[in-house]
Amino acid sequence: MAVPVSQSWTVATYVIKQKLKGRKRFPLVIMLEPLFRCNLACAGCGKIQYPAHILKQELTPDECFRAVEEAGTPMVSIPGGEPLLHSQIDKIVEGLVARKKYVYMCTNALLLKEKLHLFKPSKYLSFSVHLDGQRDHHDFSVCREGGYDAAIEGIKAAVAAGFRVTTNTTLFDGADPNSVRAFFDELMEVGVEGMMVAPGYTYEKAPDQKHFLGRARSRRLFRAILSNRRKTWKFNASPMYMEFLMGKREFSCTPWGMPAFSIFGWQKPCYLLQDGYADTFQELIDTTDWSSYGTESGNPKCANCMVHSGYEASGVYYSLGSIRGLLDTAMAMFFNTYEDKGALDLLNEPVTPIHSHNPLVQIQTAEPQPEVTA
Ligand code: SF4
Repeated sequence: MAVPVSQSWTVATYVIKQKLKGRKRFPLVIMLEPLFRCNLACAGCGKIQYPAHILKQELTPDECFRAVEEAGTPMVSIPGGEPLLHSQIDKIVEGLVARKKYVYMCTNALLLKEKLHLFKPSKYLSFSVHLDGQRDHHDFSVCREGGYDAAIEGIKAAVAAGFRVTTNTTLFDGADPNSVRAFFDELMEVGVEGMMVAPGYTYEKAPDQKHFLGRARSRRLFRAILSNRRKTWKFNASPMYMEFLMGKREFSCTPWGMPAFSIFGWQKPCYLLQDGYADTFQELIDTTDWSSYGTESGNPKCANCMVHSGYEASGVYYSLGSIRGLLDTAMAMFFNTYEDKGALDLLNEPVTPIHSHNPLVQIQTAEPQPEVTA
């Protein structure tokens, strides 16, 4: 089991309590973005194209704690930007752990080894390392030669020091399902606790607009990757969300499930879109026109979206919302290999990975680059 029992229990009791209270819209995980600055400039990222004066700003630890207490979620994800560049990230993590929040710090791990001494191993803290595939694919995806090796080195150091380490992987058009499956084996071998995988989102500001996946292509890709699973693979995502990615079930988006808070405030309506900001979480819930979002709304910005931050909460709320949801989830956990002959045939189809016919373009950032071994 990828997620510790105490964490699963905390999340389950939280969700059931919210439902018993009759809350119609409640969050599952807060996406706390304490800065937008990064030491990578990935072609598919829409977060780091802000002007320099914005990239210099940081949330203070107290601003972070206030936002987390306002949302009241049992889990906090810290994306960015690169959180390890934040000048007080150790204080932020320490304060959240003291509040018994399950923290996932999303990092590209370039600085993980050198900053590990800032943190203490805890069941409440996981490093969620961003890795998009095997060495060539990841380095192409993050526009940084040596990025994969540095991240693996960081993972090994964190695992050896007793930290929980998970991974998050974003897949774009041109991903090779056989390579992704081999990549899962590599992650399990280095001691990763659980993997999360999701399709990328078409950020309007991202430099590379050509390689985002449409819904049908996403389902085909994830059916090929996630069917016929090896018993050794462990995932850090709701089984129902993974079935959604494989095209086995339909969910509506839950944009309030993982609300994003940054130096601008609470972002409307979700982590991906920027249709304004609210000063408080309650204002976000009360003043957002939720009917304008999600695939069924007809909003073109949502048409192809299947991202984790929109649909993981849908999967969890389905699992804990009815006897049927509980049974479906139990079945998915018990019969978790998903044997599928058609999916095996998909693995035999020729693929031309994008990194095989495109040069790796290293995009420079203003941040000093840590030394990595290629
Ligand atoms: S479908 Fe995607 S982009 Fe649209 S509201 Fe949901 S998470 Fe945001």
